[in-house]
Amino acid sequence: MLYMENIRHDFGNLRAVDDVTIDVQPGEVVCLLGPSGCGKSTLLRIAASLEELQQGRVLINGEDMRAPSGRLTPPERRNVGLMFQDSALFPHLSVLDNVAFGLDRLPARQRRERAMEFLDKLGMGAQAERYPHMLSGGQQQRVALARALAPGPGLMLLDEPFSALDARLRDRIRDDTLHLLKKAGAGTLLVTHDPEEAMFMADRIALMKDGRILQMDRPVDLYCNPVDPFVATFFGEVNRMEGVVENESVATPLGRVDARGIADGTPVLVMVRPEGVRVVVVGHPDSHHRESHVVMSRLLGRNSMLHICVHDEHNREFHMHSTMPGVFLPQENQRVELHLDQSQTFVFPLN
Ligand code: ATP
Repeated sequence: MLYMENIRHDFGNLRAVDDVTIDVQPGEVVCLLGPSGCGKSTLLRIAASLEELQQGRVLINGEDMRAPSGRLTPPERRNVGLMFQDSALFPHLSVLDNVAFGLDRLPARQRRERAMEFLDKLGMGAQAERYPHMLSGGQQQRVALARALAPGPGLMLLDEPFSALDARLRDRIRDDTLHLLKKAGAGTLLVTHDPEEAMFMADRIALMKDGRILQMDRPVDLYCNPVDPFVATFFGEVNRMEGVVENESVATPLGRVDARGIADGTPVLVMVRPEGVRVVVVGHPDSHHRESHVVMSRLLGRNSMLHICVHDEHNREFHMHSTMPGVFLPQENQRVELHLDQSQTFVFPLN
């Protein structure tokens, strides 16, 4: 559906996009994820021809967007649905007419029906006769989303489409949008800086940093097999420990960790997600001895966060975080034993 090859883009001395190749298959949702300023929006704007193509190729449905003459196909001729942070609604048109605007191939009655259908799906049906200046930011965002979706484009390019919505509404609109996109079979490239949003929406995520894609994979692969410490930490806080590989494993305050594939003698960084540290209260039939105790317990909602003081074999103290499902709030100073989940543990050579 979309293929971008060796894209590079400079703003003066700043390289905003650095040799990026990315593809979106029909019916697939791909999220561009990364910290502010990493080049996500610039890449999306290049796909939409809203930014000049300085270097590389953009193919939509197999068609090169730059003709042999060097001219670019204008965005409106691409069967692409666009929603950008600065894509304002037409102020002089009603909400309904804004959404109906892109449906000019349909007879008038069907245009209205289809526009209403999408407004209803995004919870904006009651506002159909209003004008954009009468809407809140979040309502305008939903109308812009309906306007992009209604023509049923083969490719959707969406830049932070849910950013103006409050948390509860965002969950609902995200869910509805995901199902609308999947039902329409549209290929989608969606920019977000929110890892949870990317994991919720994406079939694949491209994680960017400093204009480059560090890893492009299914959410489960990014989460469970991050290629480097940046990727591992981008999806949430991690516990960090250092050690040296010996006999294909490394000693940590939480026990030995598998380090197969890394040469003996290599200094390494060991990262463990808080959910990879399981806490068992000492005295429990499952437990065996380890000198650790609870410093603090907090309920976060679905999980409990425990701050644990751990001692290594030289009796040095380490501070670890553990998240445990549900309400699990052992008392301060409670002695505990820690069990490590190796699938939530990552080992990277230190430079
Ligand atoms: P955010 O999540 O904050 O929107 P982003 O990852 O989408 O960030 P971009 O908007 O693509 O990042 O910007 C990438 C870099 O290019 C940033 O350093 C930004 O300051 C710079 N930049 C973007 N647009 C321009 C412009 N028109 N002129 C000069 N520099 C720009």
